[in-house]
Amino acid sequence: MKLSKSFVPTLKETPNEAVVTSHILMLRAGMIRMLSAGIYSFLPLGYRVIRKISEIIREEMNAIGGQEFHFPGLNPKEIWEQTGRVEAFGDTLFHVKNREYVLAPTHEEIVASTAKNHIQSYKDLPQIWYQIQTKYRNETRPRSGVIRGRQFLMKDAYTLDATTEGLDKGYMLHDQAYRNIFDKCGIDYFVVGASSGAMGGAGSEEFMIKSDAGEDTVAHCTKCGYAANLEVAISKIDSKLRDDKSEEVKEISTPNVKSIDELCEFLKIDETQCAKSRVYIADEKPVLVLMLGNDEVNEVKLQKEFGGNVRPAHPEELIEITGAEAGSIGPVKYQGRIIADNRLKDANNLYSGANKNDFHLGGIDLKRDVKGIEYFDLRFVSSGERCPNCNNKLDVFTAIELGHIFKLGTKYSEALGATFLDEDGNEKPIIMGSYGIGVERVMACYIEQHNDENGIIWNKTLTPFQVHLMGLNMKNEDVANTSDSIYEKLISENIEVLYDDRIDAQAGYKFKEADLLGMPIQVIVGNKKLNENKVELKLRATGERMDVDIDELISKVQELLK
Ligand code: ATP
Ligand code: MG
Repeated sequence: MKLSKSFVPTLKETPNEAVVTSHILMLRAGMIRMLSAGIYSFLPLGYRVIRKISEIIREEMNAIGGQEFHFPGLNPKEIWEQTGRVEAFGDTLFHVKNREYVLAPTHEEIVASTAKNHIQSYKDLPQIWYQIQTKYRNETRPRSGVIRGRQFLMKDAYTLDATTEGLDKGYMLHDQAYRNIFDKCGIDYFVVGASSGAMGGAGSEEFMIKSDAGEDTVAHCTKCGYAANLEVAISKIDSKLRDDKSEEVKEISTPNVKSIDELCEFLKIDETQCAKSRVYIADEKPVLVLMLGNDEVNEVKLQKEFGGNVRPAHPEELIEITGAEAGSIGPVKYQGRIIADNRLKDANNLYSGANKNDFHLGGIDLKRDVKGIEYFDLRFVSSGERCPNCNNKLDVFTAIELGHIFKLGTKYSEALGATFLDEDGNEKPIIMGSYGIGVERVMACYIEQHNDENGIIWNKTLTPFQVHLMGLNMKNEDVANTSDSIYEKLISENIEVLYDDRIDAQAGYKFKEADLLGMPIQVIVGNKKLNENKVELKLRATGERMDVDIDELISKVQELLK
């Protein structure tokens, strides 16, 4: 492709709308443009990468027996009502105004409807159906460029099985296909969710990358691969040890002392001598939650114990329930249910609120002074704590989800009547799995991981073009002719080449742009080297430069691309 005739609108400056590295670089490299919030056009250079990622996905999906479909994006709303997902998606679902249609945010419904009409017997199963197709979601915070779009390309796959063993098998095939896909793309990923043994194993796994642009927080162990969303992550951490002797409960005046840090400062004690108290309302009943020191209550873990519907008590409620304001609440003589984090199990000689404003109690023995206390894991893990599997230090960071594999079961087939007859002639719902990868997100995540201050650094697999050829002074006939003939030769050898043949652009500008666009091999044709019958070759990734005889250029490029 000749740059003189191409639409590659590069930008020198960082566009105002972008903060995330991949977003900035995709805009600056002329790969995408925003049409409206969360809606992007892919320009020729960017779309070449999308096609390459799609091809890698196709190869791996076809290798596990996937059949490529193209389901419609415009769906009758009725089908979505049958599964209850018009409600479940809520505002995220795009509705088409003039008809009872919705724009599909995913395709479980359409797959199940298709199966309903055409799968009859166990002999028709298993099936792996996939597509690479546009999805529509009215995301509330579309930011970070194509990482979270309102319209985006997803590879979505669905397994249809007669047995749970079949589902396990399909799931494991996708697990391996996903690893192959992300490896081939050159992405450094990790997997959240247990991946060991399919039978009875986890029902879902997320493939993620570490990134400041991420919206999920995860705990990860680089040694053994343990990874979990912070909402459910666990660690090995010391509990408070029970002292040999319990002191007497004593009331202490603590004027204006609210937080654990203030209490520690005031009493000259360590945070691990304190029990922090929080009141929650679970199913309209108050619960006092005790945490050791500054440990934060993990509301997802709390919700797990109570089956959902848990919220912090409002300030007015606090006074009514405990007689004190936040900062002075504690377990002794508290009327009602008390639960505590495992780190506090049977601890004594603790400090906590006195349920009286501006007073705390010391010498609390949870065994002696607090009846019926229940213990659970209720805390958030933090960086540096020990991995629950291998004792290595855990890292806590934000991450982006690239892909998701999920054992759905029969939810959609039951709702839509997608059944089959088993060997004994019994009618059963088809067992489904669903498997997604965000194609644009893969591209953005690759860029998040492969860039420097000058621009993008493509690998041989995803790069829009393998070679970036530059004729430096195209007014010079020698340079122009040699560059032209190198261009032709590269093309005849099936090497993808972007040719900067522009006459007016300065050498410095061409160099900068080549680094911004990031093709792996740059071939530079200039006056001086031509006199020795040589051109210069630069590797984008390392900055390494070499002079190559023009006659040997093609074989050198081929060798580098191997
Ligand atoms: P997220 O938690 O990031 O919103 P999700 O759980 O909604 O993701 P899925 O419904 O599992 O995502 O979709 C499968 C894949 O599609 C995701 O792993 C992600 O790569 C991609 N994806 C999801 N939402 C978007 C979006 N708004 N823009 C771009 N890609 C997306
Ligand atoms: Mg989502």
